[in-house]
Amino acid sequence: MIYTNSQQALANKIDDKPQLSNWKDWKWQLKHHIRNLEQFEYLTGIRFSDEERAQLEATFAKFPLSITPYYLSLIDKKNYKNDPVFKQAFGAVEELTTLPSELADPLSEDKDSPVEGITHRYPDRVLFHVSNVCAMYCRHCTRKRKVGDIDFVPSKEQLRKGIDYIKQTPQVRDVLLSGGDPLMLPDEKLDWLLSEISQIPHVEIIRLGTRMPVVLPYRVTDKLVSILKKYQPLWINTHFNHPNEITASSREALAKLADGGFPLGNQSVLLADVNDCPRIMKSLLHKLVQNRVRPYYLYQCDLSEGLSHFRTPIGKGIEIMESLIGHTSGFARPTYVIDAPGGGGKIPVMPNYIISWSTNKVVLRNYEGVITTYQEPDSYELKNCDRNCSECTLELNIDGVDENEAIGIEKLLSDSCDTISLIPENNERLQRRDIND
Ligand SMILES: *Cc1c(COP(=O)(O)O)cnc(C)c1O
Ligand code: SF4
Repeated sequence: MIYTNSQQALANKIDDKPQLSNWKDWKWQLKHHIRNLEQFEYLTGIRFSDEERAQLEATFAKFPLSITPYYLSLIDKKNYKNDPVFKQAFGAVEELTTLPSELADPLSEDKDSPVEGITHRYPDRVLFHVSNVCAMYCRHCTRKRKVGDIDFVPSKEQLRKGIDYIKQTPQVRDVLLSGGDPLMLPDEKLDWLLSEISQIPHVEIIRLGTRMPVVLPYRVTDKLVSILKKYQPLWINTHFNHPNEITASSREALAKLADGGFPLGNQSVLLADVNDCPRIMKSLLHKLVQNRVRPYYLYQCDLSEGLSHFRTPIGKGIEIMESLIGHTSGFARPTYVIDAPGGGGKIPVMPNYIISWSTNKVVLRNYEGVITTYQEPDSYELKNCDRNCSECTLELNIDGVDENEAIGIEKLLSDSCDTISLIPENNERLQRRDIND
């Protein structure tokens, strides 16, 4: 079942001596990835007009094409124009449109990069870009300008810079390997990298973000699982966007990872004309949980160059969240986030559930529209926390618990700090005060 008739036909076209085993060999898949229009037309039988071809060639010159034979085999050739797999894999001329609000590096990952390969944005965790290549180049990729620009797998010396930064930065307890796709690294290098990171005493967990279960599920071999197993606790996040991507092969890959003992998560991107529909999204989420994958994030599409045709209004995401909260299992719904342009990090957004508030009651609404009240306790004693934890009646085991300063809004809420406001830089009113002082 894993090998379908259309996959067989494709394998025959790609390789003179196709063997059943080849199709499921991830290296064979990578070697035969589809990189240009001619190959695409030959293998799918889809034909474009001369005018379309010229525009598509220009698109691929700017953002390269790369599709695995496996992912190509999922395209519905008869109705390719509406096909979610086609839209994620194959370029559209709209990619050449750049809007004034779009940026090459919308999340300022470069500015928050202390050393090559590392983005250190949050206090206790880093993003480590360990490869610049992916099995497939998603057309909606945030790192579109980088991924595939020059196919590049960093050497051990280059990776060493990131490892050294983590070693020297004791607050980093969570290392997120990303890319490109970290599973593009050969097994030996991945083994080495994980072993280096896991030996750093302050690193508590490693996370791996990969789209392999979606675009090249055969990458999840028994050997890979046995390597990864050595580095528990290892969390794995994948990137399914549409229920059509859940196939017999991807289920098998997910089962191997779940059986390997890795907690699995999924990050989807909300994409116009791909999954911007509450029913499609719900169907995807249900399939994910059936395969032991916990939906983690639903991303609002970033302001990267060439993605305007994929972007939806934020209202679409809120509408989808409204259709999920209360309507389906709590663990089947992701957190909808906007990654703040300029590098502010992920900001969760939700429909509003609090309708009003008094000193002793909160008025809330539920998913059905029922309006209800929650009576606040009269007995709650206000605690003034001076962060003198050793004197506190709540028993925090101080040993091994890091002392950290409250930052941001948390700081405004804390009793132990006298900051009363956060003021934007160059606030004119306060500059006037300075002059008058
Ligand atoms: C998303 C992201 C992380 C991880 O964030 P979580 O909310 O913990 O999943 C870390 N660093 C950067 C730069 C990120 O973009
Ligand atoms: S797998 Fe991820 S990093 Fe690679 S092209 Fe797709 S979205 Fe971009």
